[in-house]
Amino acid sequence: MCSSKELEFPLILIDYQHGFLVSKTIFAACELGVFDLLHEVQEPLSAATIASRLSTSEDGMERLLDACVGLKLLKVDLKNNKGYYSNTDVSTMYLVKSSPKTLYYMAMYFSKITYMCWHFLPQAVREGKHQYERALGTTSKDLFETVYRSEEEMTTFMRFMDSTWNLCGKDIVQAFDLSEFHTVYDLGGCTGSLAKQLVSTYKESTVTIMDLPKVVQAAKKHFVTDKEQQIYFLEGDFFNDPLPEADLFIVARIIHDWTEENCIKLLTKMYHSCRPGGGVLIVELLLNEDKSGPVISQMYSLYMLVQAEGKERTPSEYTKLLTVSGFRDIKVKATGKMYDAILGRK
Ligand code: SAM
Repeated sequence: MCSSKELEFPLILIDYQHGFLVSKTIFAACELGVFDLLHEVQEPLSAATIASRLSTSEDGMERLLDACVGLKLLKVDLKNNKGYYSNTDVSTMYLVKSSPKTLYYMAMYFSKITYMCWHFLPQAVREGKHQYERALGTTSKDLFETVYRSEEEMTTFMRFMDSTWNLCGKDIVQAFDLSEFHTVYDLGGCTGSLAKQLVSTYKESTVTIMDLPKVVQAAKKHFVTDKEQQIYFLEGDFFNDPLPEADLFIVARIIHDWTEENCIKLLTKMYHSCRPGGGVLIVELLLNEDKSGPVISQMYSLYMLVQAEGKERTPSEYTKLLTVSGFRDIKVKATGKMYDAILGRK
């Protein structure tokens, strides 16, 4: 018989290898509409009823529901030997599509795009480049043309981006005292989700979101209302269009997308458009200085390999990028939550 010590590592390894089974179970339940249906009806339903309402096989649905119970995403009550399923508080909050804190769109984006690309991780490692062509059949040189292939895919991506800052945007805008920066530009600011967190913390500041024209149009249509007083939009391409003068530029999840050369090009442009005393706030997942972790940053660095042109970086790598681009007084703040912040000054 194996001792529990002997089993420790194989069990960890088996657990790691099972990771994608868990992901796919969540993706499938989201995609089939399990959490939304149970939220809508507000009463426990049998596997047969759920299968019939969602047009699936009864056996397949029952196994999926039981797996979700195991993952604590559903509850089951037994009545006369028959299971009746309902959402847990976690799935009501985070997996029902209409919840303000939903992560449903993250699941959909990961399922339909990221998962497909990660199938080609060995090829990405061999070739050192993204796998959109193999995974999705797209050949565009422009990264975001693939992500925004259709209106629906663009909106799913935007909703995924939006969800992060609803959860941990406050940690970012409070990582440093940003109150002295009144004119703020969020480059690639997407839906304005981080901008909303910033203006709710700093009442004297305005944030202008600069993003590609179709993203700005979708953001105005789906994500911001006229009530948002301190938020403005600017359609443009941050690589090719001039940047307006600002006290602070924010680049959240932007630098990790691009090559070293493009990062320096963009940061140098920001430096020249920044008022003296102003700054740039980079928001990313930090790697430890020796790259030994955190695991999530290491995984996201692979994600950037498979789906973008960049990588995750250490504090000194960000410091170097900022210094080369002209910034000084660089401060790094690991928030201990999901995303971290780096502030450079002009
Ligand atoms: N900053 C947002 C956040 O953290 O939620 C979005 C990050 S997303 C990974 C990258 C953003 O950059 C997208 O909104 C995309 O449309 C925008 N973007 C990509 N290329 C751009 C360009 N050349 N000019 C302006 N925006 C661009």
